[in-house]
Amino acid sequence: MNNKNVIIIGGGPAGIEAAFNLANNDISVTLFEKESQPGGNVKNWAKLFPDFGDASVVRKELTDKLKHNNIKFLANTKIDNLKWENNNWVAITDKDEKHTADIALLATGFEVFDARRKEELGYGIYDNVITSVDFEEMYKTGKILTTEGKIPERIAFLNCVGSRDEKVGNHYCSRVCCITAVKQAIEFKELVPQAQAYCFYMDMRMAGQFYEELYRKSQEEFGVNYIRGRISEAAVTMDKRIQIKAEDTLSALPMKITVDILVLMVGIESSESTLKLSTDNNIVGPYGFAKSKSLFGKDNYSEKKGLFLAGTCKRPLTLPETIADGRSAAIEIINYLRLLDEELGI
Ligand code: SF4
Repeated sequence: MNNKNVIIIGGGPAGIEAAFNLANNDISVTLFEKESQPGGNVKNWAKLFPDFGDASVVRKELTDKLKHNNIKFLANTKIDNLKWENNNWVAITDKDEKHTADIALLATGFEVFDARRKEELGYGIYDNVITSVDFEEMYKTGKILTTEGKIPERIAFLNCVGSRDEKVGNHYCSRVCCITAVKQAIEFKELVPQAQAYCFYMDMRMAGQFYEELYRKSQEEFGVNYIRGRISEAAVTMDKRIQIKAEDTLSALPMKITVDILVLMVGIESSESTLKLSTDNNIVGPYGFAKSKSLFGKDNYSEKKGLFLAGTCKRPLTLPETIADGRSAAIEIINYLRLLDEELGI
């Protein structure tokens, strides 16, 4: 394998995990990351669900893997073009540099939904409407405060912002935001036990290991209130609190509630790079994610020869699933290269 090389686009968890496993098999890897630091969206998190593990520890474990001798990591490098040329994959950077390899792996990750697209919820208009990503940033400081510096008496979390939403064209479930709301509601109650926390949901999707237990714990130990219903509108009051209008769909009654902070649980969307590179190579799937060859057995393959896929460029995944998928992509690439060598009699 030591005469083989792979280009990986995206230095998040899937890309790093794939790079490390390929490098351990004597394959030379060039890993491109458009940002200045590797680790992708893990940097947005303070603690991880469902065990409240420290995200910075997981990020360090991942980024340490890039110290491998067989990995060349190029930060601040965006791939503008990826194409199959003369029996090789060619990646062209935003600095117009050309990199050639036997195999290309797309690990271009996701972006969070831009909550400003749901104008009626007031993000970017009212100070105390924040997103789940903003909540994580604030939580890292050890305090959750309103923009006026006040300790909140009431907080509300709104699920499914930008997911399961016909109006924005995203019918799919982002899979991670229900459990994130549970985690953040507990974190908030730990910091401000006397406050009230509400979570508005369509249905609570607790499909991962220990998710259901955490959901129960949030109610039984922390008194988080779950209301089945969607917020239709948020408005600011004279004292800069947020008044929300919703319908409790279990009791079929309209409701109004005033909170100090409204947290919008923003969903996962295809990243700009995923959309561009998969469209250019004709492997774009629903909602702009990259399309794998088959969910059953060929999920790291694309329809293009030698072009592989890993992680959330394909669909919403949790962090453990993303890391495992990076490892899986590396195994598939190794198997593919071995078969190629056999065919060529090497
Ligand atoms: S995980 Fe929950 S909040 Fe996120 S889209 Fe699915 S149902 Fe909505």
